Amino acid sequence: MTETFVPRAAGDAIKAAPRRFVLEALGEADATRRPADWRDRLDAARDDGVRREIAAKPGFSVKRLTTLVSPAASAHIEEMAARAVALTRRRFGNAISLFAPLYLSNYCVNRCRYCGFNAGRRHRRRRLSLDEAFAEAKILAGGGFREILLVSGEDRAAIDTEYLCALARRLRAGNLFSSVSVEIHVESEENYRRLFEAGIDGVTIFQETYDRDEYALWHAGGPKTVYENRLIGQENAARAGMRRLGLGALLGLTDWRFEALALGVHASTLLKRYWRSKVSFSFPRIRPAEGGEGVLFRHIVADRDFVQMLAALRLCFPDAGMTLSTRESPALRDRLIPLGFTQISAGSRVNPGGYNENDGEPSSTGQFSVSDERGPAEMTAVLRRLGFDPVWKDWDAGFGGGA
Ligand code: SF4
Repeated sequence: MTETFVPRAAGDAIKAAPRRFVLEALGEADATRRPADWRDRLDAARDDGVRREIAAKPGFSVKRLTTLVSPAASAHIEEMAARAVALTRRRFGNAISLFAPLYLSNYCVNRCRYCGFNAGRRHRRRRLSLDEAFAEAKILAGGGFREILLVSGEDRAAIDTEYLCALARRLRAGNLFSSVSVEIHVESEENYRRLFEAGIDGVTIFQETYDRDEYALWHAGGPKTVYENRLIGQENAARAGMRRLGLGALLGLTDWRFEALALGVHASTLLKRYWRSKVSFSFPRIRPAEGGEGVLFRHIVADRDFVQMLAALRLCFPDAGMTLSTRESPALRDRLIPLGFTQISAGSRVNPGGYNENDGEPSSTGQFSVSDERGPAEMTAVLRRLGFDPVWKDWDAGFGGGA
């Protein structure tokens, strides 16, 4: 069933600031038009242009990223990957940091058709109490993690700013983590500021897809149907002082080349305007969710294209963090990690209460299926075997002004 939800305050987040630089920049670059509008420019790239861009000084321009994600560049993937590896090593050395998501609630008012938390599905819902969330966090800290990502479905009746502030303060007081980020509903600048003051220093918001048509198709109901509101979430967070801004598209919803271009324009705009914040990219490839509509995915991203995308973004953004999730298989993760990633998750549980459960029936539904189930100790050994230094902490709120 398709249900259209028109939020009472569709433009709330947008109205909160006089000028929205991300919206303007994406409009100027045409990056929110349809993927077909980019086809001619992508097809115009030629081998000599690709070679020039691979050898050029790293940095972003729309023309450069268009060339690097073009079909012509796919014949140069080995050179692109080699340059991406070299740039990553020069900037980040051998360090790869580890983090873990902590799912707080799977209640959600949205109807994203690819997600196990979709409001229209009858699943085992659970919201952790503050005590339960703190207990889960202690398990993660006990496993060595010092960076944590608080995740929840979008339902302010279940998880709101007060809850998150209270949990963040408790985590800070317990001195368990050096960095606490959130991946929640889009908030106003004011509420992000409250979260920042409580000790949260990072915000991850996946646009899911920058393709407006596909966005409308996959987001069938709830406040998330408003494309622009989601797009300016990172801007709200940056204005509020958040130091870590996580961007990503759910790869598989539209043409990956278009998503890469839009991600590049989005990141470049944020970095120009909010230079105190660091940007990182995530590359979640779509995975089946319980009750999801995976059969409809028409843009599944092949491994080779996936590598081209991450190498192209690395050549344009040499300082950006790049995050690899447990959606990928263990064998593929081991091959991908050296190609430019700077952060990985390990041992992730994607249902609320998952870390406190043994192997029996989970108490709640997970958001998607995890492919790499290796825990932190095993991933640490893998990283060492691959020649990397596992880092549990690469940021401290004390450096950046968080509580
Ligand atoms: S993707 Fe997020 S907003 Fe959409 S249904 Fe899932 S939890 Fe809710």
